[in-house]
Amino acid sequence: MSIKVYNTLDRKKEEFIPRDPGKVGMYVCGPTVYNYIHVGNARTYLSFDIIYRYLKYRGYDVTYVRNLTDIDDKIIIKAKEERTSPEEIAERYTREFWEDAKNMGLAEPTIQPKATNHIKEMIEIIEALIEKGLAYIVDGDVYFEVTKFAGYGKLAHRTLDEMRAGERVEIDPRKHHPMDFALWKSAKPGEPAWDSPWGKGRPGWHIECTAMSLRYLGIDFDIHGGGRDLLFPHHENEIAQTEGYTSKRFAKYWLHGGLVNIGGEKMAKSLGNIILVRDLLKEHNANVLRLLALGTHYRSPIDFSQEKLKEAEAAYERLLNVRRRIEHVLESPTVTRWPEKVEEMNRLKRVIEETKEKFIESMDDDFNSAAGLANLFELVKEINTFIEVYGEQVTMHAKDLLEEADGVLLELSGAVGLNLTLPKAEDVAKKLPEDIYQLASEVLGIAIDGKRKDQLLDDILERRNRARKEKDWGMADRIRDRLSAMGIEIEDTPLGSRWKLKI
Ligand code: AMP
Ligand code: ZN
Repeated sequence: MSIKVYNTLDRKKEEFIPRDPGKVGMYVCGPTVYNYIHVGNARTYLSFDIIYRYLKYRGYDVTYVRNLTDIDDKIIIKAKEERTSPEEIAERYTREFWEDAKNMGLAEPTIQPKATNHIKEMIEIIEALIEKGLAYIVDGDVYFEVTKFAGYGKLAHRTLDEMRAGERVEIDPRKHHPMDFALWKSAKPGEPAWDSPWGKGRPGWHIECTAMSLRYLGIDFDIHGGGRDLLFPHHENEIAQTEGYTSKRFAKYWLHGGLVNIGGEKMAKSLGNIILVRDLLKEHNANVLRLLALGTHYRSPIDFSQEKLKEAEAAYERLLNVRRRIEHVLESPTVTRWPEKVEEMNRLKRVIEETKEKFIESMDDDFNSAAGLANLFELVKEINTFIEVYGEQVTMHAKDLLEEADGVLLELSGAVGLNLTLPKAEDVAKKLPEDIYQLASEVLGIAIDGKRKDQLLDDILERRNRARKEKDWGMADRIRDRLSAMGIEIEDTPLGSRWKLKI
């Protein structure tokens, strides 16, 4: 079985055969560092983070390059607005991006090159393009001449005439063709500038990615990715200049992530409809954001909404819950039982094996994480059923099996970057409301004795259990309702009552 990927270049799914057996070179266009990233940007980085992690899980040695565009008009404008230097803006937002990336649980790429560290390579490529007759100089600017590159439009699947009609580009008399794009921009007073054979200036955006991907991955590398909005003109231009320069294929597989929309419109700073990653993470765990990404195929758009977020929250809670239940069973006394519940055990054993196979099959199919997640939840369902049907008397064999199920759950979720580590009791205790003290001592007369809130909560549950045994349903319900009002949910399981914080 091999991995299949949808290649935007050919508009079809193809077998994934890397240039160097066992190795993968992957380049993803990174942020222009002039502001905080939003949920739309986050989704693209998450999609490629998932692909990166999964390829590693499948045994590939992956070199993942995600660049930083640290020189650009937007950075210069922001610096002017804030009366500071473009360097300061770029440095600040690089730091902030790394902070968000870490908090989102993104794996660090192998290399995160900065455009400004590769100006020399860019100048070399531009010089070669001029020499080959593919680029021309006008007053210190250098343009790529699209009509000189026969393959222009092969990624977007559009001819030059179609683009011209579609893009409504302004006619610039200095350009030979309206679609010609800047490789080098001459310096304006006060802007950052580098020496070049055409005078002082700075690179255009597209040439940055050509220089950095060739430098770290070489020609004809495996995966070039980015959000769908970069397909044209950015990636089209990258192809034109790189293939014009090397006369070889630039990258083998072009992967484009679907956009995040909100109310039917693209989430974009310019439209004023963005939700910053850092704001979202104040309210939600990073795994919730990842589950939001995993729940939709990476190529499909996501219509962001509070309901979607709630679904992802519920999914995360279900995953943690099943792990808590397993933990609870593993901690309860082991018994010998005769006869063993072989049928239930065999069923769970089969589902564990099938889940792993199906999950890999789903992810191998163009990284279909939505299907992969559904496979994981089939296992979750089986584990829950097993615990309910098997009952309180747990044998060593049943424990072994549950441990195996838990291991597969952790392995597969980890393969796509989910972290299902259960929070420690002390950490959870910190989040519990202060009202616990009042309920324990004033209402139920439980001695506080310097106990932590989670320990008091266990005492409260014990009190409720006693009430239930004594058939004092009124009391049992009152305790449940009081806790519910504090955001604490009680779950009555065959193995006793447990509490959890509603999120
Ligand atoms: P930018 O900073 O606009 O160059 O975008 C950085 C990355 O985020 C690129 O890979 C874009 O394709 C991606 N991106 C921007 N907006 C969205 C969106 N609404 N949904 C998904 N990806 C986006
Ligand atoms: Zn790029």
